[in-house]
Parts: sequence; structure tokens; C-alpha cells
Amino acid sequence: MIKVNRRENPLFTKYNEQIVIDSLKKDFYRKCYLCEEVTRHFEIEHFYPQKIYLHLVNDYSNLFYSCQKCNKIKPKNINTTSDNEIINCCEINIEKYIKLRLNILECKIEIIKLDSAKDLDKQIDNTIKLLDRIYNGTQSKSNSCEDLKDDIKNIIFEFEKKIEQYQKSRLKRAILEDIKEKLDIKSPYSSFKRWIIRDNNYLKKEFEKYIID
Ligand SMILES: [Zn+2]
Repeated sequence: MIKVNRRENPLFTKYNEQIVIDSLKKDFYRKCYLCEEVTRHFEIEHFYPQKIYLHLVNDYSNLFYSCQKCNKIKPKNINTTSDNEIINCCEINIEKYIKLRLNILECKIEIIKLDSAKDLDKQIDNTIKLLDRIYNGTQSKSNSCEDLKDDIKNIIFEFEKKIEQYQKSRLKRAILEDIKEKLDIKSPYSSFKRWIIRDNNYLKKEFEKYIID
């Protein structure tokens, strides 16, 4: 999950109009706001469910770009009351509160609570629970790495290989551009890569300045 800065301001009457789809693609960089997969197979999700919040059905700020898998996994009661609300990544910088890390040995995504903010505490906990469901499939019986985790693993390996290349190479500039691109919000699973940088003192010193929100 990353902080999404909405820049588009489409004029529309119904939420499934093409202009809304185009705007969401731009604002969310075609990335599912929950799992961070870059995908064309998306659904327009109503952050506050349309059945309950009728006045928000066609409100652009309530429309989110979500992959079909996450939209299916997300329990229907999310954001129906203040007790099951999750963090709104368009308003709050989620990376301040939640860290994501791939545990290769256990083939598991670790979702770590970093900070507690009194008014957000419940939302942070609910978000962690949902992300755990999405990444680790607590309902799934299979222990093997599934597609999503394999995808994350491949992207992380590729990123770590680039960093290694950067450290060994004398022609650093081109490699650095590539690293910057991989840390960008637009890049798939960027929050995982950003935490790799933040969690290592050497990498932090070298690359943290390229982590731009
Ligand atoms: Zn997703």
C-alpha cells in the first residue's frame, strides 16, 4: 500500500464512465491500492461501500483502483462502520504506520506495525489484518508460495541485483536511474523496495533521498 496523490478531477455523472477509468488509471498508476500489483484487470472499488453510502457512489474521492483478486478477498463489511474502517491511502501516508517485508524462508509477507496514532489505531490494525489476508491468504490451505508472492519475490530479486550491480560498477549513473525508477510510486510493489532501503544503514545513506512520496 502506498500513498496515492489524486491529481485528476474528472467531471462525470456515473462512476463507471470512461473518464473515471482513465483518471483512476493515472492517479493510481494502474496499481492496485491494496496489493500494489500493476494490472489491467482492475475493478473500480467504492472505498465506502455504495450500498450504505449512497451519497458517495459517484464521488471521485471514494473510487479506488483495485485488482479483481483483492476486491474479492476484501470482506464486505470493511468500511461499513468505524469499527472496521481501514486506512485511506489517498489521505494518509501509510508507510509511516506499516512496514512490508518479504520473508523468503517462510515465503510470507511480514506486515509490521510501526507507529501508533490514537485516532488511527483501529484503522491501522484493520489494514494490517486485511493485508495479511491478501498477501498471506490466511484462509488458504496451501503453504506454497502463490502467484502474488512469487511476483513480489521476482521484483525484489531484480531490485537487489540492481543494487549489487550499482555497488560493483564504475558506471553508476545509468544504474542509479534504474534504481530510482524502481523506487518510484509507479513501480510495482514499491513499498517493499523502499523498506529494503530504509532497513539497511548503508543503503539508506545512499538511496533514501530517492524515495519520493
Ligand atoms: Zn490487489
